[in-house]
Amino acid sequence: MTAGERLYPEDWQRAPRFQGMYSFMRLPISRDLTKADVVIAGAPFDLGVVHRPGARFGPRQIRIASAQVRPYPTTEAELWGPFRSLRVVDYGDADIVPAYIDENLERIRALLAPVHAAGVTPILLGGDHTVTLPALRAAAATHGKLALLHFDAHPDYWPPPTPERLYHHGTVYRAAEQEGLIDLSRSVQVGIRGTISMGIVEECRAAGFHLVTADEFAAQGLEATLAQIRERVRGPVYLSLDIDSADPAFAPGTGTPEVAGLTSRELMHLVRGLRGLPVVAFDVVEVAPPYDQAEITALLAANLVYEFLEICAARPGNDQSGPPAHP
Ligand code: MN
Ligand code: MN
Repeated sequence: MTAGERLYPEDWQRAPRFQGMYSFMRLPISRDLTKADVVIAGAPFDLGVVHRPGARFGPRQIRIASAQVRPYPTTEAELWGPFRSLRVVDYGDADIVPAYIDENLERIRALLAPVHAAGVTPILLGGDHTVTLPALRAAAATHGKLALLHFDAHPDYWPPPTPERLYHHGTVYRAAEQEGLIDLSRSVQVGIRGTISMGIVEECRAAGFHLVTADEFAAQGLEATLAQIRERVRGPVYLSLDIDSADPAFAPGTGTPEVAGLTSRELMHLVRGLRGLPVVAFDVVEVAPPYDQAEITALLAANLVYEFLEICAARPGNDQSGPPAHP
């Protein structure tokens, strides 16, 4: 597993991918923040959904699907995968207690706050999108107000149903803005579509978001969208990826699918195109395995996490001279 100070996934040629403990990519399981650059944690929480539950099984299924992902370069330009310069561990899950939303949000925040404080980058596997709120609280405590880069079919900027009931997976960014966690003028949402979302698009834009609907993305293309993201997003960036940004043909395993979305290739290239941005945290949420087919949604999520690891590995100053993962 280790080569000097570096950590590597289990070698699929020495130990086949259907055996052993299902950590993410079969990386070492650890909570030692002194020996990690990136940690992958789970938040198996879906009490915040307004429609179909099931995302509580997301972290487990993404880990299982991640055995398909091998530590090799994603483009021909790269010699080796991200583990050559990054120490990545599976941090385990937040302890979830069924039925208590506020308590669970606090448990998720408490899991991630020390990660940021230690200078380590967390990757959070949801869970429904509500888990992003405590993840933003943890990130902002160390990094200050964040730019939000948000891929989703839904803006998740709806006002709470009553002043006493603040939280569900559609109110996340309204709450985050009111808590001062995100700066909408530096934030971008991509992939917005569907009948329920269209009713709030103008309000999102008036509030300050730069919003690229799925139809606008299809018309202007990947490069123009990446250029808009680079122009708009500055300072510490939080990247939140709702898997329903993908079309249900590519990601059926989610609670509130919306047709006419992004392809899996477009999403992979969008994340790949973010290299060089100062992204301080990442989450992939709303993978709901009970609705999945042939594990394709979990597999897409696992590959998107791998693309995010490449963003971390591409940070300036990272030592890329370590031994290859599995020569
Ligand atoms: Mn969402
Ligand atoms: Mn969504």
